[in-house]
Amino acid sequence: MPFAIVRTVSKLRDTVSGWRRANLRVALVPTMGALHEGHLSLVRAAFESADRVIVTLFVNPTQFDSQTDLAAYPRTEDDDVAKLLPTGAHVLYASSAAEIYPAGFATSVSVSSVSAGLCGAFRPGHFDGVATVVTKLLLQTGADIACFGEKDFQQLKVVTQLVRDLDIRVTIVGCPTIRESDGLALSSRNTRLDLRARRIAPVFHQVLKDAAKRLLAGEPVPYTLTWARSAIVGCGYDSIEYLELRAEDDLAPASGLERPARLIAAAWLAGVRLVDNVKVESDGPLALIH
Ligand code: AMP
Repeated sequence: MPFAIVRTVSKLRDTVSGWRRANLRVALVPTMGALHEGHLSLVRAAFESADRVIVTLFVNPTQFDSQTDLAAYPRTEDDDVAKLLPTGAHVLYASSAAEIYPAGFATSVSVSSVSAGLCGAFRPGHFDGVATVVTKLLLQTGADIACFGEKDFQQLKVVTQLVRDLDIRVTIVGCPTIRESDGLALSSRNTRLDLRARRIAPVFHQVLKDAAKRLLAGEPVPYTLTWARSAIVGCGYDSIEYLELRAEDDLAPASGLERPARLIAAAWLAGVRLVDNVKVESDGPLALIH
């Protein structure tokens, strides 16, 4: 099937209905565009368990808490199409705000618990915006699976929760974070880092990895978190929005490693907000020490 760009719900539904009649499995990869290898890795993951892959491109205004951030978000549809073509993705669903939120739109999906704290505490309304648009995209496509990056770990948890709570018949697949060779997590926002900031940026992931090692070696959690925050700022970041240890399954604050845990953080560098997280797990000999 040739690649197609679809801009309306009705055209999307027509396309998916044909696939359904042919008993094809459909995967959804929601994005806000400015595609990079991280997004393309989700498309490849989607192909592992589906016959047809829909990538969505929608810079969702309701998940931005700042108009400046929304205005500055890169919009590169032609480049995105060029990057998608070699992946074999079947449809780019690039809809408009008027199509997603027609006049009179009055519904919001709000997930409690996992939306609280972390990004939820600093970006009021963000996860309501995410939950609402993801619910719409899941229902519009009727996808069998949907792929999300672990890079936005809290978002992955919010989506998993809403699918469970609303009985949406879809399997959510979490995919590992794709990084530059120096460890910086790929992000559409990285293009806004100037040369100096780009040089400093990888410190974020390095410190999170070192902090994970310290925790595994038995260092007390509050001590490690304080060390990590000051190490990142000491290397040139402007500020830490949050840096916390959370349980992997329900994102509850973790005071130790009794349950599988993640260090999750957001930090500001040269006016750009970056998020990252690492799983606190032993990758070798440390397991013997612990
Ligand atoms: P975005 O376009 O930033 O909204 O991201 C769309 C999807 O791509 C989300 O599921 C993100 O978690 C995922 N994503 C973004 N960056 C990465 C990355 N570096 N590695 C893996 N997935 C990513």
